[in-house]
Amino acid sequence: MANHNDNGALKHSTALPIHIQGLTKKYGDLYALDSVDLDINSGEFLTLLGPSGSGKTTLLMAIAGFNRPDAGSIRFDKKEVILMPPHKRDVGMVFQSYALFPHMSVAENIAFPLKLRGVSPKECTARVAEALETVQLSGLGDRGIDQLSGGQQQRVALARAFVFRPRILLMDEPLSALDKKLRERMQIELKHLHQKLGVTTVYVTHDQREALTMSDRIAVINDGRLAQVDTPKAIYNHPANAFVADFIGESTMLPLTRDESGYLYFNDRRITDTAVKDAPNGWSLVIRPERLYVVDGEADTNQVVVFDGTVVESVFQGETAFALVAIDEGTELSVRFGTSSAAGTGSLHPGEQVSIGLLREDVIIIPRDR
Ligand code: ADP
Ligand code: MG
Repeated sequence: MANHNDNGALKHSTALPIHIQGLTKKYGDLYALDSVDLDINSGEFLTLLGPSGSGKTTLLMAIAGFNRPDAGSIRFDKKEVILMPPHKRDVGMVFQSYALFPHMSVAENIAFPLKLRGVSPKECTARVAEALETVQLSGLGDRGIDQLSGGQQQRVALARAFVFRPRILLMDEPLSALDKKLRERMQIELKHLHQKLGVTTVYVTHDQREALTMSDRIAVINDGRLAQVDTPKAIYNHPANAFVADFIGESTMLPLTRDESGYLYFNDRRITDTAVKDAPNGWSLVIRPERLYVVDGEADTNQVVVFDGTVVESVFQGETAFALVAIDEGTELSVRFGTSSAAGTGSLHPGEQVSIGLLREDVIIIPRDR
């Protein structure tokens, strides 16, 4: 086995699970975190996803030890850390602003956490070189921070966060300052880096696409509360509530009615093929635009829910096209489809009569909030 020690020096032998229970943080009357329970697996890449002001940074800072929660517990494996100062928590952190030291060189920035921990100069040099190589900045160690592009600075911040082999890595919107192309490349690179380091990683973003791309699991947060925690696929295909359905991906939500036997209907179309229990505020149908298609000829309504309508708008957007189709009184469906010739649906015109199909296996129902 020629390769048995590949990356062995960087990979930490013991990544830690994180157990968060009843975590509450108040600013005045505002609950920035409201009784958050979250278990993060050892070595997992977990993303905290939510809109601005939802409590993502507050939760990350609580894990790092930079703020003091009002109630609750944070354990790294079995050890309670809530009263432990940040430097004792063995956590690497990438801040949104990078927070690099402008008067130090690239190598000095990366060496900083090693010096704090009393690592010998010789070992320091070796580890900095290794970290530089990992983030593909070999040869730039002597540069000043102001001689780097935004993407390179981001890599230095990253190298500084993992060079001391922390058992937990926290990143707060680390890619938000980069342009789209670079951001997408860095998403893949960060994923690879995570696989290489094997470190438990909590990643913060408000970008749902980024979360879907990078994560083992996503914790969706809204107003200081977790709305759903699950894999990207499960979050997308089975949103637990309207907030998640709305925040992740595009969706049209239609209010449903329930008959005595428990079947759900949108107007006269039966939506479910099994009985559903009653919900306090009723149920909604969640429709993803790309799960709809133009029905060609007669559809088998045992397999497909059919909506007949009129095209209101049709927009070409490059790799996909988008149409609005008016169905029943006051209801419009968003439809998205590919624009390859094979897709064959790229030519809807306003005023055209169409039948739109939704496979029954693509039906998503959620309980209504109110
Ligand atoms: P996010 O990172 O998701 O954008 P934050 O965790 O920064 O959200 O903030 C959550 C809420 O707590 C927001 O309403 C914010 O205004 C408030 N908040 C955050 N930090 C402070 C602070 N130091 N003092 C008062 N309010 C704060
Ligand atoms: Mg934030």
